[in-house]
Formats: sequence, structure tokens, C-alpha cells
Amino acid sequence: MKIAILKEQAAGERRVAGTPETVKKFIALGASVAVEAGAGATASIADDAYAAAGASVGDRAATLAGADILLGVQGPDPASLGGAAPGAWIVAGLNPFGERARVDAYAAGGYEALAMEFMPRITRAQSMDILSSQSNLSGYKAVLDAAAEYDRAFPMMMTAAGTVSAAKCFVMGVGVAGLQAIATARRLGAQVSATDVRAATKEQIESLGAKAIFVEKVAGIEGEGTGGYATEMSDEYKAAQAELVSSHIAKQDIVITTALIPGRPAPRLISDAQIASMKPGSVIVDLAVEQGGNVEGAVAGEVVVRHGVKIVGHRNVPSRLAADTSALFSRNLYNFLSAFWDKERNAPVLDEEIGNAIRLTQGGKVVNERLLAS
Ligand code: NAD
Repeated sequence: MKIAILKEQAAGERRVAGTPETVKKFIALGASVAVEAGAGATASIADDAYAAAGASVGDRAATLAGADILLGVQGPDPASLGGAAPGAWIVAGLNPFGERARVDAYAAGGYEALAMEFMPRITRAQSMDILSSQSNLSGYKAVLDAAAEYDRAFPMMMTAAGTVSAAKCFVMGVGVAGLQAIATARRLGAQVSATDVRAATKEQIESLGAKAIFVEKVAGIEGEGTGGYATEMSDEYKAAQAELVSSHIAKQDIVITTALIPGRPAPRLISDAQIASMKPGSVIVDLAVEQGGNVEGAVAGEVVVRHGVKIVGHRNVPSRLAADTSALFSRNLYNFLSAFWDKERNAPVLDEEIGNAIRLTQGGKVVNERLLAS
């Protein structure tokens, strides 16, 4: 069983899908590991470190030659996989809805493509969940990005020349990224408040020492759908939420938005008029910018200024912390493959629940129900 760790091809992708730690662990399972030269360079991992862990390091052709499992952070170009074993697995974040043509090409090439972002949200798969591991660090980085753009301080400071007041930070969307954003902003000394459509988050916000800002007394407020994800809210709820946000946001210095609804564009949470109500110099970070954006006027890959407010729309935020996000992503992949490792076959054998959820292609066809239904 040969596992290949490929160098990422997408522009701006700095992460890598394997580390010396996971290389050692795969070898201990009984696999051999090949790493494409330079794969870890942008995540601060030298080729020598992979070699010292027991991997062979070579060019792409040598890495792919006879490989049974190809690991990636993002999906590799189907045309660049020549030499891999017939029916090889591609295990990566494959962006199945956004990259449907590429999924079709994996099927045509006879690969078995496994989309890690389709991992079901069940307890035993928590350690395999790339969405959680990457969102966690994105939430942290979003606050640091806001602090870097903000021309004031986060904590209250009493100095001989007078007092600097604490920044007011509002987090919208309290999933994995939002919770980490709250914790990080609190550590930096901001006064933090937060909101979500899922009522269950109220207690989580308060347990982190932040103030929960919630729409009360609107029918159907419980915005939790399957798997702990949010559902689309009623028009009545949206109107009440907009009113609440309008009065709160005008008093904020920093806003971090993280709201997503699976399979739909990100909900619009902040309008241009609300941005105009904020003080000049305030900063908004839109972590949902690549899914359509929570903030009117946010631009993916740019920091734009509207009404004197900076709107930060960095792409691929996990890649901005490539060393740590790579380490966690790589462990997610190892935790997944090792959980299903069959010692006798020296290969992973998936069960139905997880296999059917994440398998996109098999036997030359697209087989994933969620993808076929979209
Ligand atoms: P997500 O990235 O899908 O969305 C981010 C947040 O935005 C969510 O909290 C969502 O409720 C919120 N949101 C959506 N629409 C909104 C709106 N209009 N206004 C305000 N907020 C809005 O969410 P996530 O980070 O993936 O986490 C969702 C939940 O799933 C969390 O409770 C998390 O703990 C849970 N989870 C469970 C597992 C597991 O059991 N394996 C793994 C990961 C996450």
C-alpha cells in the first residue's frame, strides 16, 4: 500500500496533507509513503524532515508511480495523476459542489474520490473532521487579521497619558470558527458579544464570557437543522434579526462574520446601511466571503474600505496559518484512514455509513447521493 502526499497545485494554497508525524504513523501501519519534493515548503516542513520520518521524496512522477492513495488538501488536477495505481483513492477536500466537472473527471479516470468535507458529523468521526479543524484556526486568525487592520488597541489600557478604551467585538455565527473568534477576542481584551440562529449557542457564548445578542419572541427561532447545522430562517425572523443587528452594530469596532448554511449561499447579515452606521476605522472580517459573503460589498481576496470601515475578505484563511492547519488536516486524514485500516489486506476498508457519505466516484461513475441530488 503506497500513500502519496502531493504538492498542492491551487494558487495561494500553502498547506500540505501530510507531515513527518503522519508519515511515521502511516509507516507504522504498514504503508509506504512518498512525498512530492517541496510539498511542505510553504508549511515550514523541509523535504529532509519527511525523509527522516521514512518517506521517499521525489518528483511528481516518482511520487505517483503505483500509488494507491493520493492525499491532498484540495483536489489535484485529474490530468496530473498519471502513473497512480488503477482505481487509486483521492482523499482531500474536494469542494464537490463547486468543482463538479473535476469530480466527473475523477470518475472518468477510474479514481475513487473521497471528499473529506462530506464526513458525517457523528461522534466517532470528530477526529476526522477537516471542516472543524480548519474553521477553528480560521476563527482565531480572523481576530488577528482584524487586530492588524484596526488602528486602535483591543484591550483597555490605563497609561500615564490617559486611558485607551477596550474594543467592542461582535461575532456573528457561533459555530466552530465563531467560538474560537470569541475566545481569541476575549484573550486580546476586547468586550465581546455574539449572535447565531441556533438557540443552543446562547449558553456557549455566555460560557466564554461574552454577551449573547439574540432575537427573542419570533416563531420558529430554533434554527438548528440536521447534523447541528443552521437552517434558512423565516422572513419574520430575518427582519427581527436585521433590526437587532442594526442597533447593536453601530456601537461595534470589530465585527467577525462566520455564518454558513450547508449547500446554500452564505446568508447576508450586514447591509451597506449598517456598515455606514459604524464608526470610521472599524473593521469587519467576512469569513464567509468565498461562499457569497455575509457582508454587502465584501470582496474575496481584498480589503475594501466602505464608509471608512475596512472590510476584510481574505481567501483561504486556514492557509494563512499553514503549519498548524497542515498538522491538524494531516491528522484528520490519518485518523480517518487508520480507523478503517484492515491489517490483513494492509489497506483501509470503509464501512457503509462513512463510505457512502464521502465517496464521490467509484467504478467510473459519480456515486454520491448528495452530489447527484444537487
Ligand atoms: P457552519 O460553518 O456551518 O456555520 C457557522 C455558524 O453560522 C453556525 O453556528 C450557524 O448556526 C451560523 N449561522 C447560519 N446562518 C446564520 C444567520 N443567519 N445568522 C447568524 N448565524 C448564522 O457551522 P459549524 O462551525 O460547522 O458548526 C455547526 C455546529 O455543528 C456546531 O454546533 C458544532 O459544534 C457542530 N459540529 C459537530 C461536529 C460533530 O459532531 N462531529 C463537528 C463539527 C461541528
